[in-house]
Amino acid sequence: MGSRNGSGGAVPESAWDRALHLIRQSDEIALACHVTPDGDALGSMLAVAFVLRSMGKRVVASFGDRHFAVPRLLRFLPGQEMLVPPEDYPAAPELMITFDTSTFERLGLLSDNTARAREVIVLDHHPSNAAFGTLALIDAKAAATAMLAEQLIYRLGGRLDRDIATCLYAGLVTDTGSFRYPSTTPAVHQMAARLVAMGLRTDEIARELWDRSPFGALKVLAAALDRVTLEGGLVWTYITRVDRAAYGLPYAELEGIIDIVRRTDEAEVAVVLKEDDQGAWQVSTRSKGTVDVGAACAALGGGGHHNAAGYTSHDSVEDTMAALRRELGKV
Ligand code: 5GP
Ligand code: MN
Repeated sequence: MGSRNGSGGAVPESAWDRALHLIRQSDEIALACHVTPDGDALGSMLAVAFVLRSMGKRVVASFGDRHFAVPRLLRFLPGQEMLVPPEDYPAAPELMITFDTSTFERLGLLSDNTARAREVIVLDHHPSNAAFGTLALIDAKAAATAMLAEQLIYRLGGRLDRDIATCLYAGLVTDTGSFRYPSTTPAVHQMAARLVAMGLRTDEIARELWDRSPFGALKVLAAALDRVTLEGGLVWTYITRVDRAAYGLPYAELEGIIDIVRRTDEAEVAVVLKEDDQGAWQVSTRSKGTVDVGAACAALGGGGHHNAAGYTSHDSVEDTMAALRRELGKV
């Protein structure tokens, strides 16, 4: 027990064996990750895509966003030529692999394709994963899906190169908050060492991910901080699409705001409501440990982890916050 480094941890050997069998017998493999992908979702998927391609497979990879675009933060990732928009995705793939995707709904426009796929391997680390596929490769103790992706790559006989390592590293640093979260085990650092040894410029990767943004992002952050509210142990704010429109700022640029709001010493839980281009509220929640925001968000139709979770709300800001306060009071 306990060794996730090299053994695959919570994933039974029989599941790995079945995954290898399915992959080896397939000529075409369709990969998908969750909508508005983060570094772990897209990085894990592209890393595995490189390896499958080198095995001679035809590979398509995508995510089910209505406005299909790689978030600016992730445009430095290699392998994006393997991405296809959802409308070009096979309607009924023989074999699919999903990455970092905890529920069917998180597949967005690709959920119908997934429902029609013959086999669906679910590679993930969310404790709330609904195991919607035909084969689960899920380890809720893994700090990132990238750790499971690395396992899969080794088990397929693949080798790391600089491109693959860049993709996996993006997943590992994203989901560990640059090796700050408690999920950062020795196995995480050992994996990072293997990746960095491929010649990664970790300074450049960090700058791409966190240390740059368009000017409008600062103005929108200012608006978010101007209306930030502290009530008891809860700190929260919201950003409307009108805030963003003034600076032509895409929704994906809002990702870092929660990391500033959650610093608040007086708050145990931080919440940022982000209005997307369709007018729905994407709710980001963070906990410092005593409150299980994953459970609260799951009760509201979303999911995530104990300390980081989210969901979609179609109500007003006031009603959304009222419902969320109620759920947070229960967990
Ligand atoms: P973020 O706040 O960074 O968007 O998301 C934090 C965590 O919550 C991530 O692990 C993400 O997978 C999960 N999450 C965010 N939004 C949703 C959602 O709408 N549904 C589910 N199931 N999980 C979500
Ligand atoms: Mn992840």
